[in-house]
Amino acid sequence: IAMSHAARSATPTFAIHEPSMNDRRALDAALAEALEGALQRDEFTVVYQPIVDLASGRVVAAEALLRWQHPLHGAVSPATFIPVAERSGEIVGIGRWVLEQAVRQVAAWREAGADLTVTVNVSPRQLQEPQLARDVLAVLERAGVPPRSLVVEVTESAMVDEAVEIAVLRRLRSAGVKIAIDDFGTGYSSLQYLTRLPVDVLKVDRGFVARLDGTAEGAAIAEAVIRLAQILRLTTVAEGIETEQQAVELRALGSERGQGYLFSRPVAPEQVFALAARRQDLVA
Ligand code: C2E
Ligand code: MG
Ligand code: MG
Ligand code: MG
Repeated sequence: IAMSHAARSATPTFAIHEPSMNDRRALDAALAEALEGALQRDEFTVVYQPIVDLASGRVVAAEALLRWQHPLHGAVSPATFIPVAERSGEIVGIGRWVLEQAVRQVAAWREAGADLTVTVNVSPRQLQEPQLARDVLAVLERAGVPPRSLVVEVTESAMVDEAVEIAVLRRLRSAGVKIAIDDFGTGYSSLQYLTRLPVDVLKVDRGFVARLDGTAEGAAIAEAVIRLAQILRLTTVAEGIETEQQAVELRALGSERGQGYLFSRPVAPEQVFALAARRQDLVA
């Protein structure tokens, strides 16, 4: 006992926490502080990744993806800062801004003659705001964008009050906004989630697309998700398509839509418009 007490007082941090845990907390706190006011300082931009119809290769939609340029640290990945913003609550204001940008953008595309749909990631924390549906519909109305031109992407989370989330999504969907489940198959209870939420689109997670290698085993999960979507009359979007072979295989499996570096990285809105206007066949 005396020994361990001595050891503990000599190196208290090691005895109490894993060092990696301390590092993570310090990084989280620093990021959370840097995120405060980042919106007002104009540090965010939104880029758009084209979503194509796999049969024709035409660009039919684009996903809004947030980018953060920190004045000292440079570009910070959303995979790093979104979870922090989610925990601090900053995501509510940031998410609202992304939504406004995306809706304004789809209005501009429509005015320029491209009937594109825009998809926006909405975090579980935002779906806990009962007035979210009203706010979203007001943003659409003000921009003169029909609700069917917006898709809200949601991910599964164990940390939500499902009753509030379902009420918000129902209200949006009854107004015509489409609902997509992002990263389908990677959550904690995908299938149960699917039976409870009002849904229009399943996004096949990039991890399952990466396994496509021309074998039945490689295709198993992507195929199961696509079949499930067909039975439930949902649209599928396959994420993370990087090779021609993956695109061809997904189309053969029955996925209507796809997105990934093969077609385009996330780009500026003008580039999405140029790709949509070209109407070229992106899939051989
Ligand atoms: P996500 O919604 O699943 O978005 C797809 C991610 O995959 C994007 O990463 C995109 O750049 C990347 N990606 C697309 N095609 C390919 C490909 O062919 N190969 C590979 N390796 N990756 C590809 P990004 O932009 O870094 O975003 C990461 C995640 O951050 C998003 O995943 C989403 O969950 C979250 N996120 C991004 N923007 C927002 C936002 O405005 N609000 C919220 N709540 N979350 C966001
Ligand atoms: Mg998404
Ligand atoms: Mg995804
Ligand atoms: Mg994701």
